Amino acid sequence: MLLCKKIKIEVSERDVQTLEFMQDKCRGLYNWWVGKLRRGERWNLEQAKKSLKESKAYDPELRFVYGKLLAEVYFHLDKAMHAFFKRVAEGTKKAGFPRFKPRHQFFTLCYPAMYLEVQGNTLILPTGGGGSWGPKRYSNIVAHLTEEPPEQFREVAVSRDARGNYFCSFVYEQQEQQVAHDGIVTFDLGIKTLATGYTDQGRFYHIGGFKGYRWYNKQLDKIRSKRDRCKKKSRRYIHLSRVYKRVSEQKRNKQHDCLHKASHLIAGTLAERAVVIGDLSQQQMVMHKHENETPKERRKRHIRNRMVYNDWGLYSFVQMLTYKCLLYGKELYLISERDTSKTCHVCKQKQAMPLWKRTYRCENCGLVMDRDDNSAVNIYQRFVAGLPPHA
Ligand SMILES: [Zn+2]
Repeated sequence: MLLCKKIKIEVSERDVQTLEFMQDKCRGLYNWWVGKLRRGERWNLEQAKKSLKESKAYDPELRFVYGKLLAEVYFHLDKAMHAFFKRVAEGTKKAGFPRFKPRHQFFTLCYPAMYLEVQGNTLILPTGGGGSWGPKRYSNIVAHLTEEPPEQFREVAVSRDARGNYFCSFVYEQQEQQVAHDGIVTFDLGIKTLATGYTDQGRFYHIGGFKGYRWYNKQLDKIRSKRDRCKKKSRRYIHLSRVYKRVSEQKRNKQHDCLHKASHLIAGTLAERAVVIGDLSQQQMVMHKHENETPKERRKRHIRNRMVYNDWGLYSFVQMLTYKCLLYGKELYLISERDTSKTCHVCKQKQAMPLWKRTYRCENCGLVMDRDDNSAVNIYQRFVAGLPPHA
């Protein structure tokens, strides 16, 4: 399967200018095409590629951009257009025509691997011009990789984060592993405990989630309110914006790291071959606004929804699990998790389980159990019974 490794790079001040120049030109070309398409021009990849010559005549500076990068712009737009056509064909309500790329965002530069040279931890990124192509305004970029790149790779994407760090993402092929193990483990995904597992051996696993989000949210709110009291564009405003970006990135990294570790544990370390998770959608966990809401309820709803959308990261967690299970040769199943927290796993009676109730106390058979444990057992039983998923 294809994997991607993102490595931070160090580049000289001169090379930063080169990178910024090239991404600016690539975005210009991209946006120019988006504009044409928005005005009703038909998209044809081959014809678009052929038009590069005219574009270069119009803007001679395009010659200083590495040619393969410009070619990638057309492929990028081609993908975006096909995705759009597909959404239209599927009848999606908001099909979303490809958009203009904003100036403050770095336009990702995609280098095909065969034109790249790696020496130790140094990567040479070519620029335009040179030889029979005419004079070279910008010399090739020398990027120092802060980590070891994969031995063989297919393409490299150069990007920049909000704080001005540059990265190279290497796409590479990794052989999938074969596991000899057997067994089933089912997981209930939640907010308090990220994943609660139950195995066919009757064992429970508890995998905690990211703990620090409360602290980070408090810091972020403080910084933002301080910033909002400053005059816009003032020195302090800019400084606080920068701090805000740094702290939110730290939070994101920590959270991402936590999800990586958890999914690695489930897919790579646990012995069970089949991994089953309840496919609860994020939407289900969101609290909806209702009439006559008290201020306290409103605050609670805001905190809760912020957590579900920003801090929980369920969507990326499931994605990580999907590719890691594939990589480690495991089978991942998603089954409906409807009513799994409400149902008693012993006597099957249902009772309401508001989220604050952490312990399941069955009124019928007297079962007392952690709500997530009970839910994980239910998912296990449902999976083994092969019940058809609920509509
Ligand atoms: Zn019961």
